[in-house]
Formats: sequence, C-alpha cells, structure tokens
Amino acid sequence: MRKNYCLVCGRPLTKNEIGLTRKLIDDMAGKFYCMSCLAGYLDVTEDELRAKIEDFKQEGCKLFS
Ligand SMILES: [Zn+2]
Repeated sequence: MRKNYCLVCGRPLTKNEIGLTRKLIDDMAGKFYCMSCLAGYLDVTEDELRAKIEDFKQEGCKLFS
C-alpha cells in the first residue's frame, strides 16, 4: 500500500487519519491531513475528531482500526 503523508505538515499518516479525511472531506484527489492539521482545517478540536473516529468504528466502518 502506498504511504500517505499529511498535505500540510508532511507527517506520515495512520490508517485512522486517512479514514477520517475520507469521511469528513470526501476528497477524491488523494489529499490527506493528519489529526492536528485536519482539526485546524475543519475548525474543530482533536478531541472531537477522536470522538468521530470512535463513532465510525461503532458503525463498523472498515476505514478505521
Ligand atoms: Zn499535518
């Protein structure tokens, strides 16, 4: 699998961060953000993003681990 890096800070991304970007931004261009850059981009806190990941996991979404 190709490694993905944060568009903003260049940090290697976890599976959850990639899944979250896919879910929340719905961008097919292959742009991904790490947790802290995504929080800034969406104007939310990292804690809110972590809560969202838990929600998606509860739904059984395969993008998260
Ligand atoms: Zn970043």
